[in-house]
Amino acid sequence: MLLCALSPRALATPRPVAYLTWYGQSCFLLESASGARIVMDPVPTNIGYLPPADLHADAVTVSHEHPDHANVALVQGKPRVLRGLTADKKGWMRIREKVKDISVRTVGVYHDRKRGAKLGLSAVFIFETGGVRIAHLGDLGHPLTDRQISAIGSIDVVLVPVGGFETIDAQTATYVVDQIRPRLMVIPMHFRTDAVTIKELSPVDPFVAGRTNVRRAKGNRVAITGLRTKPAAEVVVLDYK
Ligand SMILES: [Zn+2]
Repeated sequence: MLLCALSPRALATPRPVAYLTWYGQSCFLLESASGARIVMDPVPTNIGYLPPADLHADAVTVSHEHPDHANVALVQGKPRVLRGLTADKKGWMRIREKVKDISVRTVGVYHDRKRGAKLGLSAVFIFETGGVRIAHLGDLGHPLTDRQISAIGSIDVVLVPVGGFETIDAQTATYVVDQIRPRLMVIPMHFRTDAVTIKELSPVDPFVAGRTNVRRAKGNRVAITGLRTKPAAEVVVLDYK
C-alpha cells in the first residue's frame, strides 16, 4: 500500500497553497497551487541582479513606474500587465482582477512622506489564492493611514521594503508590519545585498536585529501553507538566487 510508505510526518505536513520566489529588489514570482503565475515589480538586469531569462507568467504587476520595478519586458509569455498607477502617474488604478485562481487588488499609497510630492505614488498589491492573502507593499514611503490599513485588510504574508533611501527604513518598516499584523510571514525586500548596485540601500540587518523569529531561507523560494505554526508571524529572509 502506497499510503503505508508515507511517514506520519509527511502525512501531517500541509500542502502549500502558494510559492514565492525572490529575484532581487522587489521582484517576486507568485505561483498558486494550480500553477497560476504572477511576477511582481519585474527587476531590470542593470542593477546587479540576474533574474532568469526565461521567466514566464500569466500576469505582471507594477507598483509604480520607477525603472527598478517596471522591467515588464523581463517576463515572457505575453502576460497581462497590471499597473498600479495611471498612465500620467498622477493617480492610482483601482485594480480588482482575477488571474486564474489568484485574485488581485490594489490600495494606493505614496512613495514618500509628503503625499508623493518628492517621489510620486506607489500601489500596494494584494493577492489572494487558496485562502491566503499576500500584500506586496511596493515602494511604500510612509507609515500607513487608518484608511489604508483597513483597505489592505487582513493579511497573511507581507512583502515589505526595509532598505530605506527612497522607501521606508527598518524602523518604519517594523512599525508598518505592526500596523498590518500579518498572520504568517514577513518577507523583507528592497535592501542592500552583495549583488545590488544601489549602494544607498541599507542591508536587511537593522530590520532583523533583536528579533527571535527570523528564518534565513536557503535559496530564493518559500512555500506558503496557510497554516500557522508559530505564535507570531515569522520573518523569512530569502536569498535572491
Ligand atoms: Zn521607486
